[in-house]
Amino acid sequence: MKIAILGGGITGLTAAYCLANKGHQVTLIEKEKILGGLASGFKADGWDWYLERTYHHLFASDSDILDFAKEIGFNKIYFQKPVTASLYGKPNNFSVLPLDTPIDLLQFPYLNFIDKIRAGMIIAFLKISPFLPIYENQTSESFLKKTMGINVWNGLWQTLFRKKYGNYAGFILASFIWARIKKRTKALGYIEGGFQEFIDYLEKKSRKLGVTIIKGQEIKEVTKVNEKFTINGNTYDKVISTLPTPIMVKLTKNIFPANYLEKFNKLKYLHAVILILETENPILNKTYWLNICSDTIPFMILAQHTNFVDIKNYNNHHLAYVGWYVDGDSKLLKMDKNQLLKFILPYLKKITNHQPLVTSHFVFKAPFAQPIFDEDFVKNKPNFVTPDKDFFIANLDMTYPYDRGTNYAVKLGKDVIKFIK
Ligand SMILES: Cc1cc2nc3c(=O)[nH]c(=O)nc-3n(C[C@H](O)[C@H](O)[C@H](O)COP(=O)(O)OP(=O)(O)OC[C@H]3O[C@@H](n4cnc5c(N)ncnc54)[C@H](O)[C@@H]3O)c2cc1C
Repeated sequence: MKIAILGGGITGLTAAYCLANKGHQVTLIEKEKILGGLASGFKADGWDWYLERTYHHLFASDSDILDFAKEIGFNKIYFQKPVTASLYGKPNNFSVLPLDTPIDLLQFPYLNFIDKIRAGMIIAFLKISPFLPIYENQTSESFLKKTMGINVWNGLWQTLFRKKYGNYAGFILASFIWARIKKRTKALGYIEGGFQEFIDYLEKKSRKLGVTIIKGQEIKEVTKVNEKFTINGNTYDKVISTLPTPIMVKLTKNIFPANYLEKFNKLKYLHAVILILETENPILNKTYWLNICSDTIPFMILAQHTNFVDIKNYNNHHLAYVGWYVDGDSKLLKMDKNQLLKFILPYLKKITNHQPLVTSHFVFKAPFAQPIFDEDFVKNKPNFVTPDKDFFIANLDMTYPYDRGTNYAVKLGKDVIKFIK
């Protein structure tokens, strides 16, 4: 039986490896020249380690990827506790506040004592609560206002939601906040050599098991005649698509009924825009991760990667990410790296009071990177099984209620193969 896997991110690679391990004949097709998709990395001149195109770390609770790494003999994942914080306030009066522990919350200056205790109790409850249907019956905003109170919503959460989800902030289901709090850990993991090391290792292992890996080949259409799928001129008995849903919809118009594909049009996404800055001096002194919770700064995240991963791996160059999630019509999607740099520099100065000297910069844009977990999403998200008994889906929409992550990519890759009989 010949199986095609569409997309060579971590989901596709995991599925390819696991299927080949069971003796199946597998071909994986990826449009980019490297594997890894959203988690892939690159090396600039003089760097020993890869850097992810979009900031990446693991949580200590990411048991699927940690167990899989062990299973395949990959032992380069390590954990530490970098400084993570949130930026609140206004220019000339910004506060960088850690928010990881109960003590951090007690010291948070924008809430009164009673509100902090109330917020702390609900966070503790969410941490131990299993998933409950009530998390799907209301928005995060309504849940947080009801349980933690309006002051906590206004002071702690509102800007975070607006930064991550823009105009959709008010529609995100409470299941998102449950999953977020449940899985977060203070210890963050990274991979010696970068996430691309893991991807390359998995590629090598998969090839050894006989997986055919085709890179640099975009799939434009999937057709089916006499029980066989045709993809880029080759035929297959079964297909697993790990492509973003909107791309899969375009490619499968010939095999799926229109009413099946139509429901996916109700899914909404934001696109990620990431600017990586190589600078003479660190932009942030100790902090690795800074959530931007101020409306006066237009981006969502500032992450000083080299406060998390040793700078010596990048030829002693300081590296930082600036990130946004944006709508399809955002002007940021049209800007090149120089325009983006010019746009953000004045804001970096407002945060740090100095203008960083940027020696080089890189931009990456990831379409459909952030699904919107609203009511429409829960009703219309894809499932492993499709109307075609031989076509299966495993993509990042299916990590719900958890926010997408490499851990869930591994889980999806492992789970989808259970349908291949
Ligand atoms: C900004 C950002 C930050 C993130 N941070 C973290 C983090 O800190 N930790 C973490 O664990 N995860 C993080 N993630 C999520 C993580 O990267 C993803 O969940 C995971 O990599 C998804 O893997 P995947 O294989 O499901 O999808 P993808 O990586 O999207 O793989 C799909 C593949 O399909 C290919 N493809 C698309 N169209 C075609 C076509 N027509 N023909 C052939 N191939 C095609 C793509 O090139 C891609 O390689 C982050 C993601 C983003 C966007």
